[in-house]
Amino acid sequence: MKIYISTDLEGVCGVYRFAQTREYGTPENIEARHLLMGEVNAAVAGCFDGGATRVVVRDGHNGAISFFPEELDERAEMVMGRFSPRDQVLRQGFDGAILLGFHSMSNTEGGILCHTQSSKTWDNYWINGRLSGEICQSAITVGEFDIPVVMVTGDDKTVKEARDFLGDEIVTVKVKTGLGREGALMHSPKKARAMIREGARDAMSQISKVNPYKPEFPLTIRWQFLNSDIVTNYKGDAKHIDDRTLEKVVHKPADIISP
Ligand SMILES: [Zn+2]
Repeated sequence: MKIYISTDLEGVCGVYRFAQTREYGTPENIEARHLLMGEVNAAVAGCFDGGATRVVVRDGHNGAISFFPEELDERAEMVMGRFSPRDQVLRQGFDGAILLGFHSMSNTEGGILCHTQSSKTWDNYWINGRLSGEICQSAITVGEFDIPVVMVTGDDKTVKEARDFLGDEIVTVKVKTGLGREGALMHSPKKARAMIREGARDAMSQISKVNPYKPEFPLTIRWQFLNSDIVTNYKGDAKHIDDRTLEKVVHKPADIISP
């Protein structure tokens, strides 16, 4: 049983303010990334507890340079940095995926560090008229390779969003509760890791019950940005809806993220 773990930083227990996620290499950011590694290793351990034979972890936050390689559980492999084509690793074949340390979509009330793609430039994002975020995007990305998302971790709003999109058969682990965009009620990171390990172990037995997320293409994607700069400077073939909004009909998963 081969498992692919996609990670982000905003949904990790102990991470609750943009000072930890937006700047690279600051003391706040380094603290957050050590907390991330703790959750990564907890998930890896849970996968192996549950019968996994291969676990590959993708560093997914902001340029994919957040992992501390030395800290990774030696049974796992990691994917870091930028590369093209982007599906080289997914093509190797996996039975299930975990979204670890994820966050809720832009404008989620009380969603800790909520955003979709860029917290500095993006506002709302719709797929076929439904407000969507990175959980849905990631599920489509792995779904293309018939890989079901079997577990999602993050705050209470993140796990709710995951269940809304992916159903109640998946395992969700709530490591914190959002009180505001930069405010949180949190477990101890140690407790969060224990819950993640247990969740990942349980998720291994759910794999056969969860379907890959494969919406039928073409899909109509609408992007709304925080200001007009991106739309003003945009040179592609998406339709201008207004000075902050673009829309495009896309025919493959690789095109859902950016116009
Ligand atoms: Zn992130």
